Amino acid sequence: MVYGKACSANIDPIEKKPLFHYLPGSSALSIATAGCNVNCKFCQNWEISQVRPEQVTHYDFPPQAVVQSAQKNSCPVIAYTYTEPIIFYEYMYDTSVEARKKGIKSVVITGGYINPEPLVELTKVVDAIKVDLKAFSEDFYSSYVKGKLEPVLEAIKIIAQNNIWMEIVYLVIPTLNDSAKELRSVCQWIRKEIGPDVPIHFSRFHPMYLMKNLPSTPISTLEKAHKIAIEEGLHYAYVGNVPGHRAENTYCPKCQNTVVQRTGYQIQKIGIVAGRCENCSTPIPGIWS
Ligand code: SF4
Repeated sequence: MVYGKACSANIDPIEKKPLFHYLPGSSALSIATAGCNVNCKFCQNWEISQVRPEQVTHYDFPPQAVVQSAQKNSCPVIAYTYTEPIIFYEYMYDTSVEARKKGIKSVVITGGYINPEPLVELTKVVDAIKVDLKAFSEDFYSSYVKGKLEPVLEAIKIIAQNNIWMEIVYLVIPTLNDSAKELRSVCQWIRKEIGPDVPIHFSRFHPMYLMKNLPSTPISTLEKAHKIAIEEGLHYAYVGNVPGHRAENTYCPKCQNTVVQRTGYQIQKIGIVAGRCENCSTPIPGIWS
């Protein structure tokens, strides 16, 4: 129903997805169709995710045209994003296949609410996946997402097992998923099940859609989450949606050298040579060129 019918197409910095360890500074042709398989009460793109395809303006943008557009606009990456790309799985899949033929990478921005079999197939044709882990409790998923946590955790494990570059975003919402206990639990789970090197972004919530009754996340709460992640042994924890915060940078976990310096979506410095810290040669996981 939405195959080849994009309702949104823009060129974004890859840092906006956010993907921090994947081709930093590159431009991503970013596309979406209408629809989603869940209903987050805090969705920032609800005007296109929570409607039927016929309720939004769309235009014909078949896979070959998407790839040609990426080439024409010097985008080395195509991102499937804004809504939930699982909704337009076949369109995303075919576009990724076409893109790979032309040397263009594909990245998926998803809530990870997908069955194992199609996810495994998808990992064969895309290059990176960012998963929104929205909380670490089934109650939250039931009340505020209209989905389930367990399939998302399973999806994260499958992505890791299939050697696709992955980053995780945790949107920290005041009073709902921001307790030290829950944050520590999610960090411990990631450390145990995936390992210390998957980047985790603790992003700032702002009131919107059906959740205008809560304030923006205090920066101190994001810093608490970041501190817990480091305490639990995660090497690459970030604070998101706070431009200029020092936790937007990537630090070498061994010598603490700033290996990627960022402000918002801008890159100021990359101190990684052949995948290693320029100062102490520690490998920094990611796809850097
Ligand atoms: S999964 Fe993403 S697009 Fe879908 S409702 Fe939630 S935030 Fe919106």
